[in-house]
Amino acid sequence: MKEAKEIFNFSATSDDCVKCGKCIPVCTIHQINQDEVTSPRGFIELLGAYQKGDLELDKNAKDIFESCFLCTNCVDVCPNSLATDMVIEEVRADIADKFGIAWFKKGFFFLLRHRRIMDITMKMGYMFKTCALANDPLDRGLLARFNLPLIKKNRLLPSMAKTSFLNSYPEEIKSPKNDKKVRVAIFIGCLANYNYTEIGDGLVDILKHLDIDIFIPKKQLCCGAPAYFTGDTSSVEYLIRKNLDYFESFMDEVDAMIIPEATCSAMIKHDWEIFCKNHSMNELVPRIQKMLPKIHMATSWLHDNTELKKLLASKGKNIDELVTYHDPCHARKVQGIYQEPRELLAQNYSMVEMSDPNRCCGFGGVTMQTEKFHLAQKAGEPKSAMIKETKATVVSAECSACRVQLSEALNHNGVKTLFKNPIELIAKALT
Ligand code: SF4
Ligand code: SF4
Repeated sequence: MKEAKEIFNFSATSDDCVKCGKCIPVCTIHQINQDEVTSPRGFIELLGAYQKGDLELDKNAKDIFESCFLCTNCVDVCPNSLATDMVIEEVRADIADKFGIAWFKKGFFFLLRHRRIMDITMKMGYMFKTCALANDPLDRGLLARFNLPLIKKNRLLPSMAKTSFLNSYPEEIKSPKNDKKVRVAIFIGCLANYNYTEIGDGLVDILKHLDIDIFIPKKQLCCGAPAYFTGDTSSVEYLIRKNLDYFESFMDEVDAMIIPEATCSAMIKHDWEIFCKNHSMNELVPRIQKMLPKIHMATSWLHDNTELKKLLASKGKNIDELVTYHDPCHARKVQGIYQEPRELLAQNYSMVEMSDPNRCCGFGGVTMQTEKFHLAQKAGEPKSAMIKETKATVVSAECSACRVQLSEALNHNGVKTLFKNPIELIAKALT
């Protein structure tokens, strides 16, 4: 297999960096570890040295490159739009080749490739969860009863559903009053499928209120984001190929495929094409491009293509909750989506802005949530403080990775604000 530096010209990126330092104050890892090597400029410099053979990919370099949160803050402000997150993703493939992928990540990515086995594993997890986990009194998830491998006592983990979203509904849900014959597919994402099933329930309710036919594609697999951020390129390739073949089998028959998850949506709309170009899978690029106009984040599509906003407005401010909206990196910075969920929520809820809604929550991917959790925890502290300051009862974001991270950060810092996906809140306002 080719090394990332044979595919990707890290030196060119390094040469294009004008060393202006604009990226440094906004960098999530630099904010909590103020060292030049853990900054976008530092990462780029090191990658240039790696390409030239002046830097060995040793354990120290691995540690440095794995400390990036892939938040894209740096790309947003860079005058040359240097894609630091992307070059880090590529070098992680070399790291995975050289050092291997930890057994628990390999197991996890295997499950993401095999839906049936994942279904059984999650069922077993649901049945035996009380052995190691207790319900959080605020119903935000599950608390570790004692220290587990990589998970400390009292850490808040995602809840587990008895039945996954995909196994809870028929494949077709037809509206009796669908005069316009609109038909929409749902791509649910793994966390919303197994852990936060209220999101899918809410989306089905909203589409029913709008008299839209729903197609729930049962053979959808993970979008590949967790494997991509960890450098497991073979899992990413497998998942893109399988999903793409499947999506093509129904895409002509639907008006859109909507995704209530920023990371999955960004992965499919943005990263699939880049990954294929970087990994000699160019033959897939036109097929992906053909499909893209129909793929949307859920709030964005509902806002732009339906009467939802009007319908919500007709209910007035009917819910007594103060909501603050957090911008997932993969929604605002990667897809430019931030107004749509706010506009929909503002019809029925009182809204308050936190001091920096665009600051990364610190989720950072599988490695950050396991081996490097101390960094995720540090990055979560300022975010939970600014949420507390708003006095909001609910923090909302269209991203379940943000939910995992923010719920734990709020729990760890003693803040009682609850997290809800905007889709859940909108569905509640409609009932
Ligand atoms: S992606 Fe985020 S954490 Fe990584 S270098 Fe850029 S700003 Fe820093
Ligand atoms: S903002 Fe861009 S050009 Fe400036 S130092 Fe950062 S990566 Fe280099």
